[in-house]
Amino acid sequence: MFAFRLLILLVLAYVFVVIIYKFFLINRTERLRRSQEHPDQELELVLCFHCQSYVPRTETVFSRGYYFCSEECARLFVRRDDEESLKGR
Ligand SMILES: [Zn+2]
Repeated sequence: MFAFRLLILLVLAYVFVVIIYKFFLINRTERLRRSQEHPDQELELVLCFHCQSYVPRTETVFSRGYYFCSEECARLFVRRDDEESLKGR
């Protein structure tokens, strides 16, 4: 009887390991697939609308439909934009 229990335990442990393994494998292939779909998203460079310098998209600040290299550039642009729209009136 003891051997039978041990066998069941082993089968359960095996099933458990297989499930965990498959789960991780699926996760990994899913991640791999996603990174292949967008391989250069992190490396993509965008032009700062204010100072005209190229920065990786992940580091940009998005404001008023434009990309900026920093909060500083975004703020300066927004201020200039506001001043110009005031002058335009
Ligand atoms: Zn800038």
